[in-house]
Amino acid sequence: MKNAIPAAGHFRLKGERLAGVAFRKTREFDLQVSLPPYHNNVVLDVLNSLETDEVMGFDENDTTALKSTPDSDLYAKATTGLSIRRWLPAGCQVIRWATSEEFVELSRKRGFRAVYTSNAAQVMFPIGVSHIPIGPSAFVGQIIVNSDEYQFKDDENTGKQLRFVLAHELTHVFDMLRLLVPALRNWRRFWHKFLQDGQRCGAVIQLHSEQSVFVDDYGSENELKTIREYWPSRADGWFNAFRKT
Ligand SMILES: [Zn+2]
Repeated sequence: MKNAIPAAGHFRLKGERLAGVAFRKTREFDLQVSLPPYHNNVVLDVLNSLETDEVMGFDENDTTALKSTPDSDLYAKATTGLSIRRWLPAGCQVIRWATSEEFVELSRKRGFRAVYTSNAAQVMFPIGVSHIPIGPSAFVGQIIVNSDEYQFKDDENTGKQLRFVLAHELTHVFDMLRLLVPALRNWRRFWHKFLQDGQRCGAVIQLHSEQSVFVDDYGSENELKTIREYWPSRADGWFNAFRKT
């Protein structure tokens, strides 16, 4: 793949310089990976071994995209090809260990290994507001990794497990890009047309939770299928290492 990500210790991946149309703000998105060198290299390997650079995004002008029936393909109306490499830093700005407080909070979730979290629900999809919210120029997304599981292990099997966990979280980032990129292209239009002046924010949250239910069935065929879409030749090896834990 072109534009290979540099193999460094801590690194920053330069993102797009974007004009936030709504508030005349310019925002440059970077991805900063703040893990020790061994784990950084695992991240780099996962990113550099992506076998497709394309995820299908929604169209900011599509007023009916979120009207699909529950059992149809969730992303049937997402038909605009987006470059993952180009847009990744917009969807995820940080990959880091969990703080001890986050660890306590996240460990309540079954089998917490890592999580992708963002403020999209607040800055882009708030339910029941009367004014256009600040939008994607204020978007923050990050992948938080469980340090207890991975910090002091650097054997081959742990590396494969961590690759699987990171690939899983990155698929959540790719799904976010389907919505985030059209919102970045023209936030006012996205709010007015795609989100119907906010009336469809609930539908976006619903779409997000349906997709999470599908992917977050840990160790399942659905999860593997999702990861295979982006890493077809490596997904099974990582998955098998993960399942042995
Ligand atoms: Zn997940």
